[in-house]
Amino acid sequence: MSVRSPLSETDSTTPQQGITRIAELRSVHSAFQYLHNQEMEFRRWQMELADIPAPPFGEAARGEWLKHRFAGLGLHGVHADEVGNVFGLFDKDEHAPLVAVSAHLDTVFPQGTPLGSREEGNKLYGPGISDNAAGVVAMLAVASALKRAELRPATQVVFIGNVGEEGEGNLRGMRHIFANPRWRDATASMLVIDGAGADTYVSHALGSRRFEVTFRGPGGHSWSDFGVPNPIVLLARALADFSQAEVPESPRTTFNIGVIHGGTSVNSIPESASARVDLRSASPQELEKLEERFREAVRAAGTGGPWAQRTSFEIETIGDRPAAMLSPEAHILQVIRAVDAHMGIKSIARLASTDANIPLSLGMDAITIGSGGDGGGAHTLREWFDCMHRDLGLKRILLALLGLTGVRE
Ligand SMILES: [Zn+2]
Repeated sequence: MSVRSPLSETDSTTPQQGITRIAELRSVHSAFQYLHNQEMEFRRWQMELADIPAPPFGEAARGEWLKHRFAGLGLHGVHADEVGNVFGLFDKDEHAPLVAVSAHLDTVFPQGTPLGSREEGNKLYGPGISDNAAGVVAMLAVASALKRAELRPATQVVFIGNVGEEGEGNLRGMRHIFANPRWRDATASMLVIDGAGADTYVSHALGSRRFEVTFRGPGGHSWSDFGVPNPIVLLARALADFSQAEVPESPRTTFNIGVIHGGTSVNSIPESASARVDLRSASPQELEKLEERFREAVRAAGTGGPWAQRTSFEIETIGDRPAAMLSPEAHILQVIRAVDAHMGIKSIARLASTDANIPLSLGMDAITIGSGGDGGGAHTLREWFDCMHRDLGLKRILLALLGLTGVRE
């Protein structure tokens, strides 16, 4: 048995030559054919999936659906972990290294949102139809194509439907996966499939940190207790100071004070006041600096002046997505570029916050790509997915995966 793993470090062929050779394999042609021909079935999967509610922290029903699909495709070791991530291995025997392919199961839509996807011509409509029903279907389509074409990746492949990508989910699915040595130690690289499109890749993870700051005091009557420390005043001082923070344009770094709460009535000295703040940066160092600037502003307001003795303050972290970026020499970057060159795709590198933030922040090779087709209205009830040329995106994922694993012949 020869192993065609043209992209391994010991091989003298370039990534481009490697991808070209893989794309010429008869079995790859037949996988491409399958991805083209099964479009109608993919649509059925996608609408079925989008009709199953998957609010943040409520992905279990979708997880069940995916487990049945994984088992139906003949994947091995199909199971869900403690938080609801669903796994299926391509090979029967467990071995390392492995390449992971993931798509998030959750949506932003709260429980009770009317779903009911519908089809009009080549377009599908419904909340979550693109982000990320399209991604989950792409993962299934690629796994199915590998099986049908009897392709044998030279390394183990694990397919993962993960929880907790959106909003307050705070990437908890990915965090849980890579806190487990079984996956952390064995995973060589990872393809994250999210949303529509086939002409970008996310190689740079946008970091964010979110905090809730609260000031507390004894409170009192506005007339009889005049002079008692006022937490709203302290909060206002802290925020006014922090809003003067200087941030670089490049690497782009931003902040927002998005929510403010406090007080009970106009004639009461408040007992507490709080605000929610969102900090973002393309650079982990800048994010760190901005956080320090924020903490400093809060400390200065809370510890300076005569009120300090009678008040307290605290900062709670309510969100943390690490910033990170792939090294320009990363193997996975060479592979995706070779695939795109082979397919005539002029792709653009993007900066975004995705599930790949976690593996990237751990120093692993990871990249986020779309599932083909086109989409829009993400995170709204008017979300749509255009299935035209979806197969281009699916072939791109398949080739990238085989470029990472190599092929046994
Ligand atoms: Zn998404």
